[in-house]
Amino acid sequence: MEYKLKDFHYNIPDQELLDDLKRVADKLVRNKFSSREYDEIGKYTIDTVNRRFGTWNKALLKAGLEITLTQNLNVSDKELFENIENMWISLGQQPTYRDVRQPFSKYSTHQYLSKFGTWRKALEAFVEFINSDNDKIEEIEKTEPKENISEPIQESEVIFKHKTKRTPSERLKVQVLMRDGNKCRLCGITVTGENIHFDHILAWSKEGETVLENLQVLCEAHNLAKGNIEYQVI
Ligand SMILES: [Zn+2]
Repeated sequence: MEYKLKDFHYNIPDQELLDDLKRVADKLVRNKFSSREYDEIGKYTIDTVNRRFGTWNKALLKAGLEITLTQNLNVSDKELFENIENMWISLGQQPTYRDVRQPFSKYSTHQYLSKFGTWRKALEAFVEFINSDNDKIEEIEKTEPKENISEPIQESEVIFKHKTKRTPSERLKVQVLMRDGNKCRLCGITVTGENIHFDHILAWSKEGETVLENLQVLCEAHNLAKGNIEYQVI
């Protein structure tokens, strides 16, 4: 399944963007400022500026301003993606550039921009990461064969062995959110953070697996209600 990012449209002339950079420089009374500072005072998003001119520094040069040094911290793509995963799960939806702030985000926007150019490109790479099959193996619980079965098998013991772990991985949670949005599948209420419940459609206790097809977003009330019904049935 392929997921697409939300579209956005900007038709602002280059000169208008450059003029706004100069305006911010005038306001700060210096020829050098960070993209974070621009984010606070600027009229447009940093993403818009970066996308138009390639990088933040190129935009500054074009506006006749001085270059700000970008941090080049040693953070792997995987760590940056995992941070997006966490933000996505907390928000229940695609994090925007403005969401990338500490302590909500573990990493600064600089770290994303220096690696991917724009926030949009970082998200595109992230979607590719989420859609890739490389880590699917992680979903499957590694079952080590027991060498000596010392304990006798009880009759009441559940013979069924799940192929997956009960708790979905962060990646799987993001996939569920990408598919369902951050809305309860039963009542449509918008859920965020702690109120997002990842429910097994066919209950785990009834041999339901932790796979995308068997997971859905529920609100707390419906998750609780569903749990109660299942207990009554048993
Ligand atoms: Zn609900």
